[in-house]
Amino acid sequence: MKYEVGELFKSQLSEWNFANKQYAALQKVETKTLKFKGGATVKVQFNPERIKSSAAKVDKKSIAERPCFLCAKNRPAEQKGIDFENFKILINPFPIFPVHLTIVHTEHTEQLIKPFVEPMLKLSKKLQGFTLFYNGAKCGASAPDHFHFQAGIEGFLPIEEDFRTKKFAVLVIENPNIKVYKWTNYEREIITIESNSYGSSIDMINKIYGILAKMYNHTPEPMLNILSYYKSGNYVIHIFPRSVHRPDCYFAEGSEQILLSPASVDMGGVLITPRKEDYDKITAKDISDIFAQVCITAKETDEIISKLKI
Ligand SMILES: [Zn+2]
Repeated sequence: MKYEVGELFKSQLSEWNFANKQYAALQKVETKTLKFKGGATVKVQFNPERIKSSAAKVDKKSIAERPCFLCAKNRPAEQKGIDFENFKILINPFPIFPVHLTIVHTEHTEQLIKPFVEPMLKLSKKLQGFTLFYNGAKCGASAPDHFHFQAGIEGFLPIEEDFRTKKFAVLVIENPNIKVYKWTNYEREIITIESNSYGSSIDMINKIYGILAKMYNHTPEPMLNILSYYKSGNYVIHIFPRSVHRPDCYFAEGSEQILLSPASVDMGGVLITPRKEDYDKITAKDISDIFAQVCITAKETDEIISKLKI
């Protein structure tokens, strides 16, 4: 599949002028690295093309009034894709990653993860060499009315290497087929599943989902971001339960404002700032504050884990 995606990427860049320009522009984006007190680092990417996504209006009225840009009939004529079950794998024309995919459901159906846990794992395995991600409707998805995943080429998000070294991940549950981790000194709350078993992974995701659904009164689903990949014979699923969509600084005015709308990629350690002034001024302390606002607390993570052990 990686080969097929590589071929798709190459042919799209040669046949689709807009995508070609967008990926060429990506090579010029600025990136800086910031370090937290506990030793973890994150990257900040100044990416003006992402303003549409970061500042997307996702209220019901705005969504109802625009043509859905993920529906086949509204997609650019040049955009081609690869079929996988009920999904179409497409090149994302607003990239963050050097190879960035949008994986769109063939039907116009709501952004809800519960019915799509199995395809998420199948796609993770199929798209080895990529990290798949899911943004909840209120956690960064700019098309909350049309189900989709995204995927980015591996080796880009700091969380991948940080999980490989287990420097910040603490093993909290170990069953024969599956391990569960929480994270410390990482400035955001994450529950990570590592398993060589497709079935055990699905059961654990559903169990965590059930606990979140009971703990929080979010509708229509618990607020979350998910990163998922298949590496060295294991499924790895990072779940980021969320408490709010956007931090206070997003809504602030004047010099107090930082236009950053955290989604899976930001949670994975690459924070996207579409405005230069935000890129220049943002500090590790700001990011720490943003994560603290949009994520659940360490106490809540412990509560979820204690419920998982029952
Ligand atoms: Zn649609």
